[in-house]
Amino acid sequence: MSITNIEVPAAQENVKAVISSMQAAGHEQVVHFYDAQTGLKAIVAIHNTKLGPALGGTRMWAYKNEAEALNDVLRLSKGMTYKAAITGLNLGGGKAVIIGEPSMKSEALLRTFGKFINGLGGRYITAEDVNISTRDIEYIAMETSHVTGLPESLGGSGDPSPVTAYGVFLGMKASAKNVYGSDSLSGKKVVVQGTGKVGQALVDLLIEDGAKVSINDIREENIKAVTNKHSGVTLVSAAELYDVEMDIYAPCALGATVNSDALSRLRCTIIAGSANNQLEDEVIHGKMCADKGILYAPDFLINAGGLINVYTELEGYNQKRAMEKTEHIYEATLDVFKIAARDQVTTNTAAARLAEKRIEDISRIKLTM
Ligand code: NAD
Repeated sequence: MSITNIEVPAAQENVKAVISSMQAAGHEQVVHFYDAQTGLKAIVAIHNTKLGPALGGTRMWAYKNEAEALNDVLRLSKGMTYKAAITGLNLGGGKAVIIGEPSMKSEALLRTFGKFINGLGGRYITAEDVNISTRDIEYIAMETSHVTGLPESLGGSGDPSPVTAYGVFLGMKASAKNVYGSDSLSGKKVVVQGTGKVGQALVDLLIEDGAKVSINDIREENIKAVTNKHSGVTLVSAAELYDVEMDIYAPCALGATVNSDALSRLRCTIIAGSANNQLEDEVIHGKMCADKGILYAPDFLINAGGLINVYTELEGYNQKRAMEKTEHIYEATLDVFKIAARDQVTTNTAAARLAEKRIEDISRIKLTM
């Protein structure tokens, strides 16, 4: 074996940029993995482990470049810290990204990734995310026990979406209580954008509660899955989505749909949905919601059912227990609205402050032990 000089153009600048991003967002650790044999390129970001091991799914995506992947994993891992903290879980925030087309996935690639995760010694626990299925999790679990979200057939918690939808539904009801004085959604016009796994389960709950539901999706089969089941559900085109008359907008597809364009058109009174990072800019669009008299139910608070579900698996899965823990979202959402009103801040800021306070308080307890 000969060791030659390793070409690392601008490496110092890159390292400096990563460290300064970590400093800015408060990350503890960022780990890059590479395996020549399988072509695996992955990054794990551990944002904060003060409450417990960092838990967050692995996303596989054909990022344009490593910088885009790094940005995504830093942003998503920080969000997980807040989600776990406000939900009262003894978990920190972390996330992993695998860079590449999902078609690159193989048993060898996923097991290699599992070995890398194992090397982190439990500081980071992985789970499913975009383009990583329960089948993929099975391969990862062959190499590490620091994984959750296994299929039900293997004693795992399976698809977390129904639990996520239940939490979103409760967050929406708490919002209704705050705005209309009653948490009944009967007769309320709700537009659900994105009728995938969470959206479909949410529509079921809304119909049962008597809401008038309209949906929008780009996939015909996901629209049909809803309309075949509920004949009263109407369709909204993408062009008119933000202009139709509605009481509640439920973003359950993508992030950043609560942006300046949408807010210049939306005439709803509540925004409550499952998508992560709904506000394009937390400060600007959080304030725009408040100024327009729209009550925004913070996404990381009301979509935590999925995280609760995989956390419950770590303790020995029991769906009843996961649902019971998810029920706390209703009271927690009301508390956030109260604090936002008392402190004259946006609901998003109030939720973030609550999460930060819990991390601070619990860290103190740990320091005295
Ligand atoms: P999914 O992939 O099953 O569903 C997403 C749906 O959105 C699909 O039907 C898709 O066709 C639709 N969609 C995509 N782009 C769209 C667009 N431009 N306009 C309209 N529809 C569009 O995903 P999911 O598991 O249902 O998750 C929905 C959202 O909730 C995601 O943002 C996800 O990150 C978030 N979330 C999910 C969970 C969970 O437990 N599944 C937990 C927390 C957060």
